[in-house]
Amino acid sequence: MTRVDATKIEALKKGFGGKVFLPKDAGYDEARKIWNGMVDKRPAIIATCAGTKDVVKALNFARENGVLLAVRGAGHHIAGNSLCDDGIVIDLSRMKAVKVDAGARRARVEGGATLADFDGAAQAHGLATPVGINSTTGIAGLTLGGGFGWLSRKYGMTIDNLESAEVVTAKGEVVQASASVNPDLFWAIRGGSGNFGIVTSFEFRLHPVGPDLLSGLVVYPFAEAKTVLKQYRDFVARSPEALSVWTVLRKAPPLPFLPAAVHGKEVVILALLYAGDPREGEALVQPLRKFGKPVGEHIGVQPYAAWQQAFDPLLTPGARNYWKSHNFTKIADGLIDVAIQYVAKLPSPHCEIFFGSIGGATKRPAPTATAYAHRDAEYVMNVHGRWDTPAEDERCIQWSRDYFQASAPFASAGAYVNFLTADETDRVRSAYGPNYERLAQLKRKYDPDNLFRMNQNIKPG
Ligand SMILES: Cc1cc2nc3c(=O)[nH]c(=O)nc-3n(C[C@H](O)[C@H](O)[C@H](O)COP(=O)(O)OP(=O)(O)OC[C@H]3O[C@@H](n4cnc5c(N)ncnc54)[C@H](O)[C@@H]3O)c2cc1C
Repeated sequence: MTRVDATKIEALKKGFGGKVFLPKDAGYDEARKIWNGMVDKRPAIIATCAGTKDVVKALNFARENGVLLAVRGAGHHIAGNSLCDDGIVIDLSRMKAVKVDAGARRARVEGGATLADFDGAAQAHGLATPVGINSTTGIAGLTLGGGFGWLSRKYGMTIDNLESAEVVTAKGEVVQASASVNPDLFWAIRGGSGNFGIVTSFEFRLHPVGPDLLSGLVVYPFAEAKTVLKQYRDFVARSPEALSVWTVLRKAPPLPFLPAAVHGKEVVILALLYAGDPREGEALVQPLRKFGKPVGEHIGVQPYAAWQQAFDPLLTPGARNYWKSHNFTKIADGLIDVAIQYVAKLPSPHCEIFFGSIGGATKRPAPTATAYAHRDAEYVMNVHGRWDTPAEDERCIQWSRDYFQASAPFASAGAYVNFLTADETDRVRSAYGPNYERLAQLKRKYDPDNLFRMNQNIKPG
């Protein structure tokens, strides 16, 4: 770290509501763990904040002392930018409060809350807004990159449901951002990642959802992958927006509803949620069972909040992860062939390829309406390389890269900032697409010295 006088670190600690960890402190190693086990950074200071006042104090400390700064929400981003070597981490992960105004259908969510924190509080009132599919993900990073999940076809991206935010700017000022207050900042934080300030709280619009909804899985043998994927693609094209069906291609986990002979074998999993009356949903999902001969299914009415956690056991923190991602406007026959070819040589039982079907309401805003520009995406694909040991690094990373290259001819331009790995700085411009120049100008206005640079960075224009 740039040499900082010990008295200044003592001054940071004084009156700090949360906890300041230095490398010698008990709890430091725990505090520097994030979701992706491949990231092993050693910050000089981890300032775990209790509230906005702490955030301002830690940010001013970084700016005034010329110290590299990283901001941590729930620490899920694959690239590991929520940590930095030697600098200070402004850690919001203890700022998890969620206040729901059920009458107004609004929620105020602190910047360190997870999807589980938010879903749990909103579902207590039968309300929700679209967020991601793994409940330990952070609301902050997810929202700042765009955010999508099971409710997005019906209610849009997470940012399409953002009403306002409280932001600590690079100058250390606490400002509001909404359609009427600092509208340019509000535009920028809806997809511009962590480039424009530290968001201490988000205000979301909520929708009546469940609490019990039809959801579940239909699993097909890999031998039927081609015909299943073709029928899946056609099915999605005619589905109502309340129905979301995603595809996961992987080795079957030992799910109790699958015969033991299938465990560990390649399969095609259709995962679904119907965000409406479950009885209507039953009729709508019926064709999904007839794409071939399923090896198992588990579909039923269950709490939305439970479905939001259904994939958590496959996405636990600590494993080694390397991801690659493309957006698609359609699933071409050639893409199906390539996906099948690569699933046939999965390098680890935890690797998978998924196609998240978004489209629907996410496509309605213009590409320039928010910083998130990819309003043409029908599918977001994630090549999810995941494994246990460093010895597997090279093989699994190479597999992810090779499949990414092989599937590139079928992809639309652009990339999802929330799925970019640390080695993809060359894709940052295309991730912001047509909005990059405006974002660069706003970066100059709000962060001319690029204080917030541990992210999918936009250089001040
Ligand atoms: C298992 C898994 C499943 C996922 N599923 C989905 C999904 O279904 N849909 C989807 O859209 N995305 C999904 N994602 C991607 C997810 O949206 C990103 O990883 C997101 O960045 C996570 O947010 P976080 O706060 O946990 O991350 P962090 O790693 O803490 O932060 C990510 C970035 O945001 C910045 N940041 C964090 N908090 C703040 C803040 N309060 N103010 C300003 N900047 C901040 C950080 O500096 C960093 O650059 C998934 C990720 C994982 C690992």
